[in-house]
Amino acid sequence: MSRLYLIPTPIGNLEDITLRAKRILSEVDLVLAEDSRKAGFLLKHLGISKPIRAHHKFNEHKTLQTVVEELKHGKTFGLVTDAGTPGISDPGFLLVRECIREGIAVETLPGPTAFIPALVNSGLPADRFVFEGFLPHKKGRKKRLEFLADEERTIILYESPHRLLKLLEELKEWFGEERQAAVARELTKMHEENVRGTLNELTTYYNTHTVKGEFVLIVAGK
Ligand code: SAM
Repeated sequence: MSRLYLIPTPIGNLEDITLRAKRILSEVDLVLAEDSRKAGFLLKHLGISKPIRAHHKFNEHKTLQTVVEELKHGKTFGLVTDAGTPGISDPGFLLVRECIREGIAVETLPGPTAFIPALVNSGLPADRFVFEGFLPHKKGRKKRLEFLADEERTIILYESPHRLLKLLEELKEWFGEERQAAVARELTKMHEENVRGTLNELTTYYNTHTVKGEFVLIVAGK
């Protein structure tokens, strides 16, 4: 039975793997992984032995057709990324789209992703929100910020540690320093931290604390 499973993996705490993710990983013919070494560690931790093949942003265009052909011939593959849900600021979209075009069943398992706990933890309205992921680094960044300044729904952003302060400064500039926001750092890990306040307060906080780890930024809508 041809099928592509998208399998979320823990964003820190290994206990967050679901029972179904574990079972499906043990049943598929092959695991497509953003990082074969990391997937190997996870499978070993789960006591699963499976062939692993690299599937990442640098080869996904080139390998797409081969993967789809294999699936069409009755294989079942599981796609995992380094952390969280494939397709969410991670490889997945291209393969899902191609499988759907080719009539191959696609099934995404519910499971870990960083933005849901960050959003709910922020204390900001979670009834309507917009996920922006990473803003473009250069081209189009200003335009995006300008556009988002008028967004009325809660905004979710991903950012790397070395750009967090720059992003907070830009948000202050475009959204105003009194806009409410929250930063979720190292979710599910030992040093998890949730800082809430105005953009001004968050900038001050991260100017006086080490900016280390992984971050999700939640910003109140206008
Ligand atoms: N697929 C992942 C998901 O479902 O959330 C996202 C992968 S993206 C390449 C990596 C970004 O996700 C990080 O830069 C950070 O913004 C966010 N992230 C991942 N794990 C996190 C964690 N434990 N705590 C906070 N943010 C995290």
